[in-house]
Amino acid sequence: MEIPFHRSYTLQDDIDQVVDTLKSGWLTMGPKTMDFENRFADDVKAPFAVSCSSGTAAMHLALKAINLQDGDEVIIPDMTFTATGEVVRYFNAMPVLADINQDTFNIDVNNIEKHITKKTKAIIPVHMAGQPCDMDELMAIAAKNNLKIIEDAAHCFPSFYKSRPIGSIGDITAFSFYATKTIACGEGGMAATENEEYAKTMKMLRLHGISKDAWKRYSNEGSWFYEVVEAGYKYNMTDIQAALGLAQLNKAYDVWEKRKNIADKYNAAFAKSEFIETPFVKEDRKTSWHLYIIKLNVEKLFISRNEFIEQLKKMGVSTSVHFIPLHYHPYYKNNIPHKVDDLKNSEWVFERNISLPIFPGMTDAEIEYVYSGVLNICQQNAQ
Ligand SMILES: *Cc1c(COP(=O)(O)O)cnc(C)c1O
Repeated sequence: MEIPFHRSYTLQDDIDQVVDTLKSGWLTMGPKTMDFENRFADDVKAPFAVSCSSGTAAMHLALKAINLQDGDEVIIPDMTFTATGEVVRYFNAMPVLADINQDTFNIDVNNIEKHITKKTKAIIPVHMAGQPCDMDELMAIAAKNNLKIIEDAAHCFPSFYKSRPIGSIGDITAFSFYATKTIACGEGGMAATENEEYAKTMKMLRLHGISKDAWKRYSNEGSWFYEVVEAGYKYNMTDIQAALGLAQLNKAYDVWEKRKNIADKYNAAFAKSEFIETPFVKEDRKTSWHLYIIKLNVEKLFISRNEFIEQLKKMGVSTSVHFIPLHYHPYYKNNIPHKVDDLKNSEWVFERNISLPIFPGMTDAEIEYVYSGVLNICQQNAQ
């Protein structure tokens, strides 16, 4: 059997929505994009949602909105995708790498305050695999030290913290609709906020720094006149992407059930294994199950995590690793000051984590093939 790490979940309604757009005479940002923004804002209980071309663009716009400056510092977890750090560098500001919790892989809230200096402007918590970070603690640290919270929620729709949807808590929350994410538009992102000024700034900057609803100038409602008030960006979403987004949003909760069902089956299969630790989800929150990350008990195995992945690959099972700690990458190693001793949990987790396939179209036979394979490799390599 060949099992990919991800297979996109595109149904007839996704195709119909996109075809409808293609036939409509309007391809770029327009009515479907506005519709998608409004529906998404409702879902995450945010007064404002600003769509854009990617999750990375959403984070960039968020940092523009809070007026991040050259020389400022932003605390981010060491275990994340480079997008979280690169957006800080766009400003010539400095990402400060903080350690994670070994159980949740989220930023360790007990290890943040030691990194706060006079230059610290914001924290970007990353909700790893879809599990919300400790938001009460983060919001308290931010309030006490006058910092902004910009959430990297690329993995995190739909997810809930103490019954509150992610998107309704921090100053700005950035979502991703990249092909493999829980809502997939191919590419796309959204910045949710309750701050109207932030929303206005992000809307203006995502389309060349043109003031106010510029897309309307091409429609019957608009006029030819517009004003450029900033050197902005070409970061808008298109109606083709939004059409897919609308269809995906319609089935987001069904898809969540499917992911949860896969996670439940993996959890049951691995429950008694001394070689595998299943994902730890705190009781007061709900994960999107974007990723299913196991930790190998490498001390009890003759093989390393990398060899384990190779053996799965030989069986036809593709996996991934989320993430390589930022400080292992040449760019961060050489350009971003950090103390390796401060990042021990991140290194510890990296030695043992594997992301197993968890995509909505997975069949029961595929799920069973994956967990049986994992358990067999454990048995064959037990110390
Ligand atoms: C996917 C991802 C992003 C970037 O999202 P894009 O839409 O691809 O720009 C940012 N942060 C994390 C943690 C991600 O996994």
